[in-house]
Amino acid sequence: MAKIETLPLLLKQLSLPTMLQQWDHLESKAQEEQWRPGEYLATLCELEVNRRYQKRVMRHTHEAKLPSGKSLATFDFATVKSVKKSQIVALSENAGWVKQANNLIIFGPSGVGKTHLATAITTNLISLGVRALFTSTTALVQKLQEARRLYKLPEALAKLARIPLLILDDIGYVKKTEQETSVLFELIADRYENNSLIITANQPFGEWDSIFPDNMMAVAAIDRLIHHATIINITEQSYRKAQSNKSQLIKG
Ligand code: ADP
Ligand code: MG
Repeated sequence: MAKIETLPLLLKQLSLPTMLQQWDHLESKAQEEQWRPGEYLATLCELEVNRRYQKRVMRHTHEAKLPSGKSLATFDFATVKSVKKSQIVALSENAGWVKQANNLIIFGPSGVGKTHLATAITTNLISLGVRALFTSTTALVQKLQEARRLYKLPEALAKLARIPLLILDDIGYVKKTEQETSVLFELIADRYENNSLIITANQPFGEWDSIFPDNMMAVAAIDRLIHHATIINITEQSYRKAQSNKSQLIKG
């Protein structure tokens, strides 16, 4: 039989920091409450597993760079009839669509909650173990163009391909001039059927020729995006504007 004095070293060797921290304290509790040895061990393992899960979610949340404070709990579904709560909840609670490399495209005018919904869905998916990265499309396009200038575009795309869910916020803000090198198209083609995208856009597909160097490329990009995609159209007026109108009414 092993000596109990060796337990801290063994736990350290096995890289089980939570068990190392808790075994002593939990042993007293187990004795007091007359747990069976197996129950003591199972409880200790459960603590380790839970702590690992929490740490992973924290790491992935940090890595995702999501805007803060945008959860499903703070989204008022009553004011946006064009958004079905059940659909948003389904996208948030089941990571299957990300595993299948499907996309989600959220259309709507400015201020209607596109970024809020994209963030809230992603936050939930991260807690299900999905790795994600949120970025403004403009910032990412600039980064990819810089990578291309340095002949490092394939590396940059490969790095992004390690992240199963990429959120491209405000695709419509990309200007044609920024797109001369068509890195956005290359990104979309690279992720097609391999990885997921959530895209927010304030122009309908019909106006996407302003985002890509030419019409053909816009059509080819849209084809790939919608092949496996959920599309949400928010048709209400700006929530932001409605809120400020309301507060003006109250003040006035
Ligand atoms: P968009 O990305 O469509 O321009 P945002 O998601 O940035 O809009 O929303 C603008 C602001 O209004 C944000 O602070 C967001 O949290 C808030 N907001 C928008 N729609 C709702 C909603 N239905 N319930 C609660 N807050 C909302
Ligand atoms: Mg937005």
